[in-house]
Amino acid sequence: MAKNDGIDDRLPTSLTDLHIHVGGAVAPHILYAIAMQQGFKLPTKSYWEFVDLITIRPGTTHSLDEYLKVMHEWTEKIQSSPAAMERAVYEIIGKEYRSSRVEHIELRFNPMKRNQGGERDLDHIIHASLRGMDQACLEYGVKACLIFCFAREFTYAQNEILLDKAIKYQARGVLGIDLAGPESNNLELRLKDAQAYERLFTRARAAGLKTTVHTGETSHTSGEGVVAALRYLKPHRIGHGIRAAYHDEALDMLKDSGVVLELCPSSNLATGAVKDLAELGYVINRFRERKIPFTINTDGPYLLDTSLAKECTMLLDANILSTTELAESFRVARQASFIPS
Ligand SMILES: [Zn+2]
Repeated sequence: MAKNDGIDDRLPTSLTDLHIHVGGAVAPHILYAIAMQQGFKLPTKSYWEFVDLITIRPGTTHSLDEYLKVMHEWTEKIQSSPAAMERAVYEIIGKEYRSSRVEHIELRFNPMKRNQGGERDLDHIIHASLRGMDQACLEYGVKACLIFCFAREFTYAQNEILLDKAIKYQARGVLGIDLAGPESNNLELRLKDAQAYERLFTRARAAGLKTTVHTGETSHTSGEGVVAALRYLKPHRIGHGIRAAYHDEALDMLKDSGVVLELCPSSNLATGAVKDLAELGYVINRFRERKIPFTINTDGPYLLDTSLAKECTMLLDANILSTTELAESFRVARQASFIPS
């Protein structure tokens, strides 16, 4: 690996990002160019105002819902065409490799939030995304896959269409499904919701897709969502899950199941899921004590003004992880990746 890449040399030479949303990962100048090419009418007067609109500044706290609103109102809208998605996916993979030596990347998004409410054809959006992924993988010699996100605010029938598409494109590189969306009305993945999604997850697993679930992601939740997800959805991994650190049953179930957590430190700080680095250290320590496998990821590197390398440096500098533990988390990530070795 090149030593002239300017990346913190305490980091492993090859990183894996398991949790990164297309909606929060495209550089502002690229998103701006895509918006301009499509003749988008933006609410901002200059490029810099646009950057402010789509970036959550470090040190400022936003609720998970505010964070999702930025993605929904602007980035997802700008990305809602085949040409935009091809470029978005291509740019993210290249940038993660250049900035953080990410050689395995799992990109997630909801294709039905990219087709203008049915005005654009879903298959065209998916094919374009796969083209962008193939091109970047070829150019940089990295490996990638796509994960389709079910939305909590969608109907069962809509999520079922997403599952059908994921199965259809599995051989092309759509390797997993996820469940994402606002937790405000629905403070966590409640029992009845988990039961409603159980059938979709069972079908996904039977088709050979891998599964992950966003839960335990806000300070309002108690870890019950992690329990419900593990019991009914039986995912291979959990997105965030940090509230499990405060819930003994969730901790026990995580340990017994071996389910891997996808931690996203800056995201959890930005949404107030943990109030500061000290609390993040406490949470990670709880997982470490119970030998619960966890990984470090970015969630939305541009939305949060971070990169995987910055996430790692932050954890090392705060003495939350040692270099050995960091290397171990990336060994776990490679093993838990939906991309076959
Ligand atoms: Zn996420």
